Amino acid sequence: MKSVTIFGATGSVGQSAIDLIARAPDEYDVVALTGGRNLALLAADALRLKAKVAVTCHAELYSDLKDLLAGTGVEVAAGTLAVTEAAHLPADWTLSAIIGAAGLVPSFTALSHGRTLALANKESLVTAGPLLMQAAKDHRATILPVDSEHSAVFQALVGEDMAAVERVIITASGGAFRDWPIEKLAGATLTEASSHPNWNMGQRITIDSASMFNKGMELIETKEFFGVDPKMIEVLVHRESLVHALVGFTDGALMAHVGPPDMRHAIGYALHWPNRGVLPVERLDLAKIGQLSFEAADPARYPALQIAADVMSSGGLAGAAFNAAKERALDLFIAGEIGFVDMARIVSRVLDKMLASDGLQNALITLDNVLEIDALARKRADEAKTELG
Ligand code: NDP
Ligand code: MG
Repeated sequence: MKSVTIFGATGSVGQSAIDLIARAPDEYDVVALTGGRNLALLAADALRLKAKVAVTCHAELYSDLKDLLAGTGVEVAAGTLAVTEAAHLPADWTLSAIIGAAGLVPSFTALSHGRTLALANKESLVTAGPLLMQAAKDHRATILPVDSEHSAVFQALVGEDMAAVERVIITASGGAFRDWPIEKLAGATLTEASSHPNWNMGQRITIDSASMFNKGMELIETKEFFGVDPKMIEVLVHRESLVHALVGFTDGALMAHVGPPDMRHAIGYALHWPNRGVLPVERLDLAKIGQLSFEAADPARYPALQIAADVMSSGGLAGAAFNAAKERALDLFIAGEIGFVDMARIVSRVLDKMLASDGLQNALITLDNVLEIDALARKRADEAKTELG
């Protein structure tokens, strides 16, 4: 039996993981499931999977969750601290699939116990990559990437020498607006930005795919996780979302990872690692697919890519500021307070200001410093919104 804990169990990634675990109930012992507002789903899954603990991150929802699970034997807890507490409970495999910077503390806590951490929460690496990688090293913990591109790179690197790696290419679908005239982007609505051509994901990451902030974050994630020079990392627009990443070696070979756009593949790979399991994902019929296409990403359409490149060259706490400004700009777009292209304008302005005045580049990456810069960048994003009108 493998004991497992899932942070963000009610989300898109969390549910894909639960689908895999629920198919083999005798193989898994579920320790903790955490969620947010979706209490009905959290309670139903906790019951179905016989979890020991169910946690909502919202303290005020404690009694609602308690009522839902009364008399079932599932322990209930609520609040941010309770989520962190869940990361202290022993588990053989922990999935970090909370959305946003809120995922950092649970990721870090699990690593500080030497756990095997399947990491979907890319914000953990974007905000505090060096801190996380060092914690893994210090505590002999294992991080297994779950973001599909990073899982693909990880798989392409099995048995390879990092010294022979020349470049890493991560692919992007191009998102909802890949074929829109650039002038039209300013008028893009929330509904239009919330539909992805190939993947079925949570709303926030879907919008981040349309703006390519998601790919920008993945560039940083690649640098931090694989320790490669940012100059070696490329983004390629690949409309079909079937080739997830390619690794180029010094002999000119490119090893590509090809698979269906189904997160159960990357999650399942991490769940069964170092072996390969049998996964319920589509088997691609390449003859039927016929063609795969690749294009360069247009920097005018996707300013987020250059912003991410600047973050990588700044280093330090630039990633924490970038992520928080992006999260806040996304909140504002979802709330209908700013337009689609204003997100990049706001993030860019916050970074320019904070890099000039807040010493981000040379700051020490500690948990406290990351959280402090995170709060400051959100405030600066609100100021930028007012300044930009
Ligand atoms: P969702 O929005 O679908 O789910 C997020 C989960 O986190 C839910 O369980 C939600 O609870 C919970 N949650 C929300 N806010 C908080 C908080 N402040 N504290 C604790 N828990 C919280 O996200 P996704 O599943 O799409 O993404 C999860 C992570 O995985 C992200 O970092 C994303 O970038 C990454 N990822 C996602 C992919 C995808 O296919 N979706 C692909 C690759 C990476 P509730 O819904 O109950 O309120
Ligand atoms: Mg991805």
